[in-house]
Amino acid sequence: MRVVLLGPPGAGKGTQAQIIAGRLEVPAISTGDIFRANVSGRTDLGKQAKSYMDAGDLVPDEITVAMVKDRLAEDDAKAGFLLDGFPRTIAQGEQLRGSLEDLGQHLDCVLELVVEEEELVRRLSGRRMLVDGEWVQRDDDKPETVRHRLEVYREQTAPLSGFYESEGLLAQVDAIGSIEEVTARAMAALERSGQPNDS
Ligand code: ADP
Repeated sequence: MRVVLLGPPGAGKGTQAQIIAGRLEVPAISTGDIFRANVSGRTDLGKQAKSYMDAGDLVPDEITVAMVKDRLAEDDAKAGFLLDGFPRTIAQGEQLRGSLEDLGQHLDCVLELVVEEEELVRRLSGRRMLVDGEWVQRDDDKPETVRHRLEVYREQTAPLSGFYESEGLLAQVDAIGSIEEVTARAMAALERSGQPNDS
């Protein structure tokens, strides 16, 4: 199955992506994780992406689209995938459709995790991650950057919801509740959209 997970920063995409991908037995492909790994590894890609990420801006499409295209061409993504954090602009959505067409594939479902903005600010400002045994705040989770990322989401990413709705692919999932509750709603939405285990 080929699934896109859409939703604002703080909606729980990363957590749900891992769980849902495990259930579907497809790789979870997170552009944020790939960028962060490249930044820590100080690769050329990481150097190009870092300043945009720290500012809470999107990394330019040329860089992001090429990276995802390469990733989707890898063997483990042939039978299906769950994309987390891509597409994030209508242009990326169109590029994705084109790349999949080239591979003779198409998306089966777009899950949108829905959470209101006040709750997102609360979640992101309190979020910490474990690095070398220490709990640290991600540079882009600082309060002023969080506000900017939410603006970027509203302006550039939220329109994808309408884009996929018009293609008949959109399933909105209420993402307030426990991790298990949200997963159950997402799996139910995938079942309604087709056969989740049928790649
Ligand atoms: P979140 O969903 O919590 O905002 P991600 O881990 O998905 O965070 O992404 C972190 C940062 O990586 C983004 O703010 C952006 O700078 C960059 N990034 C990730 N995916 C994309 C993308 N598809 N296009 C452009 N930039 C991206």
